[in-house]
Amino acid sequence: MLQIDPDLLDKTSPSPYRDAMLHGYRWLRFTPQLEQAFRQFHVDTHMSRLRWAGGMAITLFALFVLIDLTTLPSTVWERTVPIRLGLIIPAFAITLWLSYQQRWRAYLQWAVCLSALLTGLGTVGVIGVALARDYPLPYEGILLVALFIYFIASLQWWHALLINALILASFLIMESALQPDTTLQLYHGAFMLTANIVGATGSYFLEYSTRTTFLVNALLHELAEHDGLTGLYNRRAFNTHLERAWRQAQREQRSLVLAMIDVDYFKRYNDYYGHAGGDKVLQLVADTINRHARRPLDIAARYGGEEFVLLWFNPASQELPHMGEQLRNAIAVQALPHMGSELGHLTISLGLAQRAPGSGLTADDLLKAADEALYRAKQAGRNRVVVDIPGHTP
Ligand code: GH3
Ligand code: MG
Ligand code: MG
Repeated sequence: MLQIDPDLLDKTSPSPYRDAMLHGYRWLRFTPQLEQAFRQFHVDTHMSRLRWAGGMAITLFALFVLIDLTTLPSTVWERTVPIRLGLIIPAFAITLWLSYQQRWRAYLQWAVCLSALLTGLGTVGVIGVALARDYPLPYEGILLVALFIYFIASLQWWHALLINALILASFLIMESALQPDTTLQLYHGAFMLTANIVGATGSYFLEYSTRTTFLVNALLHELAEHDGLTGLYNRRAFNTHLERAWRQAQREQRSLVLAMIDVDYFKRYNDYYGHAGGDKVLQLVADTINRHARRPLDIAARYGGEEFVLLWFNPASQELPHMGEQLRNAIAVQALPHMGSELGHLTISLGLAQRAPGSGLTADDLLKAADEALYRAKQAGRNRVVVDIPGHTP
C-alpha cells in the first residue's frame, strides 16, 4: 500500500476525497459520486495501456491463426480459426477503434469487458474443439488470458474478477465434459484457480494504488488552490477562475462584478493584538466574505495579505448597488474591537467594479478598475464602498 503523508490529510479541508481517504476503500468502492469521477480518471490514466493491450491481443491472435493453419489438422483449424479470426480479433479491433472515439467513451469499459469475456470463452472454445477432435492443444493459453485480463486489459478489479470467474466456470465445465483424463482435469483446474488467485491479488493492490493516486491528486490540487490560513481560494486559483468566468460572460453576454476588499488599519491591529489575533480576524473576515459568494459561479479568494476579492457572475441589476454595502455592513455589525482604528472597531473598505466583457476589455481591466475604486475608498476615509459601474452615479 502507498504510504500517505498524514500532513496531507491535516492540511486539507473536508471534502468527499478526504472522507474517502479517512474511511478507506478496501472494497474498491467510493461513494457513487466519487466513483463516477474515479471511473473517468481510470479510463483516462489507462488509455495508452488499453490501446497497447488491444494492439497486442490482435497481433498475438493473428499469430495464433498462422500457427493453427500451419500445424493443426484441417478438422481442428476449421473450428479454431473462425473463433480467433471472427470473434476475438474483431472484438479487440472494435474496442481499439472505440478508444479513439470521444463520443463513445462512456461505453469503452463495457467494450473491454466484452472483448475480455469473448477472448476467455473463445479460448476455452478453442481448447474444447481440439479436445473433442482428440487433438489436445496446450491448455496454458487460458492461464495467459486470465493474467492478461487482470493486468493488461485495464479493467476495474471487480469487472476483471467477474469475467475471470465466468471464464473459469466455463473452463471447468468444458474440461469435465471433454477431458477424459481426470488427473489432468484436476491439475488444469488447480492451475487455473491459482492463476486467478495470483492475478486477483496482484490487480487488487494495483487498483488500490490507482485509487490512492486519484485521491492524492485531488487533495494536492485542493492544497495548491487554497489559502492555508483562511481556506479561501488563493490568488492563482482566482486568476484562473476569473479568466474562465470572463470568457463565459463573453459567450453569454453577461457582466461580471468584482469587489476588491481590504481590512482597514490592519497593520495597527497586528501591532495591538499580535499576529495570532490578526490571523483570527483574517479568518473571520474571510468567512464573512465567502458567505457572500452565493451562486455556483461566484468565487471569493484571498488576494494577498489582508486583501480579498469577490467575483459575482452576472448579479441582478437591482441587487448591484447594495451588494458592496451589505458586505461592508456584515463586518461592521460584528463590532470587533480595534483600538488602533479611529472607529474603535474592525472595518473593511471595498472597491467594486462592473464590466461586460467585449469591446477590447480584458479581465485585467476589471481588476484594475476594482483596485482603483478601493484606493478611492481608502482615500475617502475607509469603512466605505466605492463603485465603478458604467452609468451608475453614487
Ligand atoms: P489600510 O487601512 O490603508 O489598508 O492600512 P493597513 O494597515 O491595513 O495596510 P498595510 O498594507 O500597511 O498593512 C497590512 C498588514 O497586513 C501588514 C501585514 O503585517 C499584515 N498581514 C499581511 N498578511 C498577514 C497574515 O497572514 N496574518 C497577519 N496577522 N497579518 C498579515
Ligand atoms: Mg489594509
Ligand atoms: Mg492592503
